[in-house]
Amino acid sequence: MELRALGASGSISAGMRTTALLIDDTLLIDAGSGVGDLSLNALCAITDVVLTHAHLDHVGFLALMADARIGTVAPTLRVHALPETIQVLREHLFNDALWPDFTALPSPTAPVLSLHPVARTEGLTLGTHHITPLPAQHAIPAMGVAISTAETCVAFSGDTGPCPELWTALQQFEHLDGLIIECALPDRLERLAVQIGHYTPRLLAKDLRQHLAPEIPVWISHLKPSEAQQIAFELAEVLPTERIRYLRCGEKLHFGRGCTPHAHISELDFQ
Ligand SMILES: [Zn+2]
Ligand SMILES: [Zn+2]
Repeated sequence: MELRALGASGSISAGMRTTALLIDDTLLIDAGSGVGDLSLNALCAITDVVLTHAHLDHVGFLALMADARIGTVAPTLRVHALPETIQVLREHLFNDALWPDFTALPSPTAPVLSLHPVARTEGLTLGTHHITPLPAQHAIPAMGVAISTAETCVAFSGDTGPCPELWTALQQFEHLDGLIIECALPDRLERLAVQIGHYTPRLLAKDLRQHLAPEIPVWISHLKPSEAQQIAFELAEVLPTERIRYLRCGEKLHFGRGCTPHAHISELDFQ
């Protein structure tokens, strides 16, 4: 399985893109600003999008992606998300005010995109990929996802603060080849982080130590660019360096038989 981190940052600045993970060219997890780096052909090759939640850094480029696909031969783009997320998309984004209702354009029978609710307790199979929703603790209804194929399984937290149910859910997987988890804020903002549902280095290190086998590779994502150096400094204080990898915008990871975990990145290059 190839996972291309089109965007893995907590916000934008030069070279930084917000969350969008492209799996094997056809499945997109979240539609942040990283989507904007894809060619039109690559944009049209995507068949399914799974959204972790409705915040703009995760759904904003779905709107522009829909616009880019209209008039092309691309099939209807299936968008899968929690019912609460779909409601927000309908009411506040594809509402013919902020953006056209692409679920009815160019025609209601063959629209650019269709919206499909995901039940928190049920997985969904999209081609050769199986998606299992994972619990998350965030300011609005949110989920993480585990993405499995016949060969591999990788988990992505989406946006979350400390969430005991997430770690319990991860334990149900017999084999996990990696966890991508957010750490959006530095330790001095811990109170705010817990309130709005984000991890800080101290809280993340505590949960990783307690709940995740040390041999499972962990990639950190969603660092706020303005705090990235500080977060990296704090993580280095509380976790062994070999446990810390940062998911970089544009980076490709390969999982499955014959693949070794991606090389450890020790030097940060935040802009
Ligand atoms: Zn969020
Ligand atoms: Zn976010």
